[in-house]
Amino acid sequence: MTRVFSGVKPTGHLTLGNYLGAMRQWAAVDQHRADSLFCIVDLHALTVDHDPARVRRLSRQAATLLLASGLDPELCTVFLQSHVDEHTRLSYLLECVATDGEMRRMIQYKEKSAQERERGGSVRLSLLTYPVLMAADILAYGADEVPVGDDQTQHVELTRDLAVRFNQRYGHTFVVPKATPPKVAARVMNLQDPTSKMGKSDDSGPGIVYLLDEPDVVRKKVMRAVTDSGRVVEYDREARPGVANLLEILAACTGGNPESLAAVYDSYGALKKDTAEAVVEVLRPVQARHRELCADPAYVEGVLRDGAEKARAMARPIVDTAYRAIGL
Ligand code: ADP
Repeated sequence: MTRVFSGVKPTGHLTLGNYLGAMRQWAAVDQHRADSLFCIVDLHALTVDHDPARVRRLSRQAATLLLASGLDPELCTVFLQSHVDEHTRLSYLLECVATDGEMRRMIQYKEKSAQERERGGSVRLSLLTYPVLMAADILAYGADEVPVGDDQTQHVELTRDLAVRFNQRYGHTFVVPKATPPKVAARVMNLQDPTSKMGKSDDSGPGIVYLLDEPDVVRKKVMRAVTDSGRVVEYDREARPGVANLLEILAACTGGNPESLAAVYDSYGALKKDTAEAVVEVLRPVQARHRELCADPAYVEGVLRDGAEKARAMARPIVDTAYRAIGL
């Protein structure tokens, strides 16, 4: 059976980008067709300045939202990365096959380290090595597929390179995985700056729709989305990124496609209104289920505990094989 691994970082509240670009596909498709693992990658949240209590809170919130979005612990494995030591055990071995040049070329590292320096902060070494830990997350489970948004495809490429290199040097150990981005909404953009992605770690609140935003907040954010001075609704990512983003969100929420939806609208206002309502409708059941789950935190803790046990049992033999292969 195909094995799928993916994750979400508890660095902020989960967004519509996380949902349309990843979580929805995990729940609707992946968990039904594959042996799948979904991980709250809490170790990755430590690569930038963080508040310990907030990371812990956001990790539980992310787990609750994954379940609220439809992940079923009977069908898939949901767990916290820090509960399974195999991730860090394997990460060190992979650091011994990765090169520093390779790490410094990662786009996310370049962007995030530049932001950190601009703020006058220092860059944590773990920010540089983070893609290696991500490679370990994937390779430890022998995952064939990694359903992630476009922003993560470079890291999955690196994972493939490391797996191939390790296998060539030390004998066949790892499955070489591939990224499987969603067909629509692979990159939901910030509503206030449609040239940058809607990322949960940004502080630009008005441009980000959070999964737990109240309907009226969603409406306000979408209605105030930045478009351009044109009037004709057309799907052109380069020339009209704001409008294209709204069309993609609407398409992802309603199952249409952005080009044909463009033909339906003769004003930006009408497009925004329908997009806002479509988002509200998509979030409604997730929020309702989230409220129910919040009333039962022990259930969520139990899911995470069982998930970690299952995950550990899958990862341990693979990581042990890697230790032997490399000479330990
Ligand atoms: P973030 O950038 O929000 O911190 P994560 O690293 O936690 O995202 O990613 C969780 C999943 O959500 C990944 O599969 C990622 O590709 C996807 N994702 C994150 N932001 C977006 C977005 N704006 N559009 C589409 N997918 C996204």
